[in-house]
Amino acid sequence: MSCSAMRDPLRRLDRAFTAFFRRVKVGAKPGHPRFRSARRYDSLTWDSGWGLHDGRLALQGIGQARVKWHRPLPISAVVRTVTVRRVAGRWYACFSLEVSRSPQAAAAGRPAVGLDLGIRHFATLSTGEQIPGPRAYHAAMRQLRRAQRRVCRRQKGSHRRQKARLLLARQHQRIWNLRHDHAHKLTRRLVSEFGLIAIEDLNIRGLARGLLAKQVTDQSWAAFLTMLEYKAAEAGTRLIRVPPGGTSQTCSGCGSVVPKLLSERTHRCPDCGLVIDRDTNAARNILRLGLSRQASTWPTGACVA
Ligand SMILES: [Zn+2]
Repeated sequence: MSCSAMRDPLRRLDRAFTAFFRRVKVGAKPGHPRFRSARRYDSLTWDSGWGLHDGRLALQGIGQARVKWHRPLPISAVVRTVTVRRVAGRWYACFSLEVSRSPQAAAAGRPAVGLDLGIRHFATLSTGEQIPGPRAYHAAMRQLRRAQRRVCRRQKGSHRRQKARLLLARQHQRIWNLRHDHAHKLTRRLVSEFGLIAIEDLNIRGLARGLLAKQVTDQSWAAFLTMLEYKAAEAGTRLIRVPPGGTSQTCSGCGSVVPKLLSERTHRCPDCGLVIDRDTNAARNILRLGLSRQASTWPTGACVA
């Protein structure tokens, strides 16, 4: 093994302990860094001792490997490290690059939108559009259950169980891929279409422990929000988090409170007669809150000028 690839585990160990002691210091409940057996250790990083020859990746200590390029490396980019990862029996090379920042596109002229994340639909926009969750997801979940049962039936420590475990890992990976593909495409579309996005500041950790824990985890909102955040920053789109609560009970037309059960899917206002979808109503309220927040955060001098 190359010395570069051996330096990396030390770096990782150092990071793990630094993070551990930092959490101890602030009084959080830290998990002690765990020993990782060869079976769990799935990646190696080269910071030197690698090269590219005719599209082949040469790694010191390994030799040359054929690479199926997922996309070309940007010409101006400087490659800092190469990480080789094993994911569910497949091998990937990840390049970390240093690129000069591209100029931010102006957000001016793009409309504002409110976004309500939900269980029934992945997201509802204040425009009334409802975005479903990733397609083929339910079929994938069914296959996952079958793969899980197959592992359980086989004898512990057997080769056949090992094979079944790999198939199960592939199923999990497929579901992860479906979710992330969906989240990447949706967040990209949102930031290029809108100049301001208002969302509820959800306590995802709290929700993931609650009554709808499975459904909440299933939607992987945390990953979605992380992507939305960095893609918005890149595109010059403003992302505004509004305090959660009350958005589905308030009428987006007149502001009066219309209590309703979780099972009631339509918002009917007795005061102004507005009848719209429950989630669309919530998304419109989120947008209104977001816009009012934006106004209050502007420096006062700007309004006078
Ligand atoms: Zn109303």
